[in-house]
Amino acid sequence: MAASKFRVPVLNPCDPRALLREHGIHPSRALGQNFLADPNTARRIVRLADVGPGTRVLEIGPGLGALTVALAEAGATVHALELDRHLIPILKAVVSGIPNVTVEQGDALTWDFAALRDEPLRDKSLRDKSWVCVSNLPYNVATPVVARLLEEAPQMTRMLLMVQREVGERLVAPPGSRIYGAVSVKVAYHATSRIVGAVPPTVFVPRPKVDSALVLLERRPAPSVDVPSYDALFRLVGAGFAQRRKMLRRALVPVLADRTEAVLIAAGVAPTERAEALDLESWASLARAAS
Ligand code: SAM
Repeated sequence: MAASKFRVPVLNPCDPRALLREHGIHPSRALGQNFLADPNTARRIVRLADVGPGTRVLEIGPGLGALTVALAEAGATVHALELDRHLIPILKAVVSGIPNVTVEQGDALTWDFAALRDEPLRDKSLRDKSWVCVSNLPYNVATPVVARLLEEAPQMTRMLLMVQREVGERLVAPPGSRIYGAVSVKVAYHATSRIVGAVPPTVFVPRPKVDSALVLLERRPAPSVDVPSYDALFRLVGAGFAQRRKMLRRALVPVLADRTEAVLIAAGVAPTERAEALDLESWASLARAAS
C-alpha cells in the first residue's frame, strides 16, 4: 500500500534509551517492556500486516511508540492501548502532531473490544469497518490477549502479532506436535495462522532473553466446524489438554463423567487417544456427540 505524507515526530521512539533516560523510566519486566529500537523492524511489521491508508489499527502495548509511528507513517488510523500510565505522556508527546493516532490507557486483559465497533470515523474516506490488530504484545499476557481478540473482537479481521517464539509456535501448531495445545485449537477454530517472520533480541531495549516471532492470524468468515455450543467444545478441549499425557477416556471424565467412553466411540475417536492427536474436526465431532 502507498505511504501517506507524514511529519517526523519531535521525539524519536526508535531511540528508547534516550526517551527512558530523559523521563527517568526503568522498563518494567512485569509489564513485558522490551522496546523496539529498530525502525526497519517496525516498517517490516507494518508491511507484513498489509497496513496502509484507510486501515483501522488497534495497537496493544504501544510503549514508547516505535510501531505506532510506523503504522501512522503508512497512513493507518491507530488506536493505541497502553496499560502503563507512566508511558502515556511520553507516548502522547511522541505522536503529537500525527493526526490519525489516539492513545488510551487501558488493560488489554479487560478492555472492552466492542468499543472499537462504535468508534466514530475520523477519516471519512475509510470504507472498511473491519480492524487490524498490529502489536508487539507484552509476552507474559500474549496468549490470553490473543484468545480475547479471537473471542471478543469479531471486527478484528487480521492480526499481526509479535510474540515470544515459543508462544507463536504454539498458536500455529498443528495436531500431533508436543506444543499443540488448547490455544492452538482455539486459533484454528477462528482463524488461519502462520509464522511470517523471526525477530532477534538485538532489536529491543532492553534485550529479552528469548527470540520473537511474527504471527499472522486471518479470521475465517465463519468457523470451519459446526458445533452446538462453543463453550461446550472448549470445555472438552480444556479438559483434554489439562491432562495431556492421559488417554482421553481418563482426561475427559471431569466433563463427560460416566459417558466418556461412549461419547468417544460415538464421535469416532479412539478412547486411547491423547488430546494432542485430535484435530479441530475431531474435537467438534466429540462436542456434537456429547451434546
Ligand atoms: N510496542 C512497543 C514497542 O514495540 O517498542 C512496546 C512493546 S512491549 C513488548 C509491550 C508493551 O505492552 C509495554 O509498553 C507494556 O507497558 C504494555 N502492556 C503490558 N501489559 C499490558 C496490558 N495488559 N494491556 C496493554 N498494554 C500492556
